[in-house]
Amino acid sequence: MGIRSKILLAFILCFGTMVGISLSLLHRSMYESYDEIERNEIAVDVERMVQSIETSTTSLRLKTRDWAAWTEMHNYVLKRDPEWEKENLSLSTLESADLSMGMIFNLNGDLLSTIAPRQIKQELNLPLLLNSPYAAIYKGGTREPQCGLMKTDIGLMLTCWAGIVRSDLSGDIVGTVVLGRILDPIRILKLRRQTGALFEISSTSDMPKNLSKWPGRLSSNSLGTSDFWTIHEPNVVHLFFRLQDILKQDVGLLTLDKRRPVHEQGERLYVQTREQLVWVVVIMTAVLALTLNFLLIDRLRRFAKQLVELAKKSTWNTRIDIKGDDELGLVATNVNKLLALIESQVAGLNALSMTDALTGLANRRAFDIRLAQEYSREQRNGKPLALLVLDVDHFKQYNDHYGHPAGDAVLQALAEILRRSKGRISDLAVRLGGEEFGILLPESDINGAKIVADHIHQLLREANIAHIASPVENRLTVSIGFAIAHDEALEVFVRRADQALYRAKHQGRNCSCNAEEINLVT
Ligand code: GH3
Ligand code: MG
Ligand code: MG
Repeated sequence: MGIRSKILLAFILCFGTMVGISLSLLHRSMYESYDEIERNEIAVDVERMVQSIETSTTSLRLKTRDWAAWTEMHNYVLKRDPEWEKENLSLSTLESADLSMGMIFNLNGDLLSTIAPRQIKQELNLPLLLNSPYAAIYKGGTREPQCGLMKTDIGLMLTCWAGIVRSDLSGDIVGTVVLGRILDPIRILKLRRQTGALFEISSTSDMPKNLSKWPGRLSSNSLGTSDFWTIHEPNVVHLFFRLQDILKQDVGLLTLDKRRPVHEQGERLYVQTREQLVWVVVIMTAVLALTLNFLLIDRLRRFAKQLVELAKKSTWNTRIDIKGDDELGLVATNVNKLLALIESQVAGLNALSMTDALTGLANRRAFDIRLAQEYSREQRNGKPLALLVLDVDHFKQYNDHYGHPAGDAVLQALAEILRRSKGRISDLAVRLGGEEFGILLPESDINGAKIVADHIHQLLREANIAHIASPVENRLTVSIGFAIAHDEALEVFVRRADQALYRAKHQGRNCSCNAEEINLVT
């Protein structure tokens, strides 16, 4: 894995974790505040709904009080007057008071009058109602009207009852007035309109499972307990309120579905924020990748490529082209210093490997390289190339007579003579080995070679180095062979020069032999 991938991975891990933690904190704090708002709204809605039904109960309670604290009703119970009954306890009275039914009982609990449309009378199953456990409660009318729910065959009925007394509330209770409003769909619709809440009232008391009890409680009411329950779904909260009848038995459910706009909006906001943060991470990663590329990776790659190239070609004179005043620039500068050092060391070693230690002349290795170059140039361009080889005469005797160190000094002196005898800068004087030397003469013909050979003999004569052990002369002499290159193999060219030297030796030494003038066996 490259540096860039590692840095990017580390960045994504760090930043991703940071974003993850921020999002979860945001999520938690958002949801806490949304829940708070939502809880308040739900509590207000349910309270308003229940209160609204309570208001309807209150109107029924007032109506019941009107009927019960009424001297004419009081008199009617004591002494039934069909005329009065017909006139005052008619269906129109019922309708004008928005009632479903009314019942008048005397103190013995005898039903004196029932006011209800025929259909309701039939559906209500009056005998059952009169013998139900409710009867024991509503027949015992009190001065203050009491209200509550009763479950009937045609649904839940909001009922109020009160003891019948005179209009000025004097005297004893003589009977009971019971008034009821069936909570039929039309009435529920009306209530919905009043509350603005889309609740349902059902006469089934089976609560769904998985309910959570609402933490708050409702104000006391005549419809049931003060508790309500909820089921939270992502977009809606289902609210349940248990309706209880006047016997405190569960007789129905009030349900309300409340949408969760705050929650939805919060969820949208959260998703948006999460998306934006993901984009931020993506963009920042891309920017980081580009910056890394620009500042580091591209330069590192160029660096590595240049190093590979350099190592492959051993071009120690080239330099790393990475600029910058940062760490990488510093590394490049130091690598360049190292390269400069290598270059000078290599140049020194090269020079050393091409030089003869004793005489300072080029050595055999340098000669071979240069000869090959000049020879191929000669073959290519047709320009002449001459080679001159030289051997000290009776050098063994010299050593024997004067000692080896003196022999070394003679070789050095001879090297100096060769240097001086070179006609051109391009001429190469070499020590081929032992007391054998050579001069390579590019662009020189056989005459040029002869001149150089003669010049060497002359300089040596002038130097007059004593060699009394020599059978040739009592001074140091050399034998020389020279040749020019033809259209032949390089070895043949060199061998011809060598054979010319051999011939010079043979001819008595202290002379030169031109390879071009003798018949040689190649
Ligand atoms: P010729 O005229 O036939 O060349 O006789 P020569 O004695 O020169 O021939 P030979 O090749 O037998 O002897 C060469 C001698 O050169 C032998 C060796 O001791 C001597 N020699 C070779 N290298 C060196 C060197 O580096 N220093 C010294 N002092 N002597 C060397
Ligand atoms: Mg020799
Ligand atoms: Mg010799």
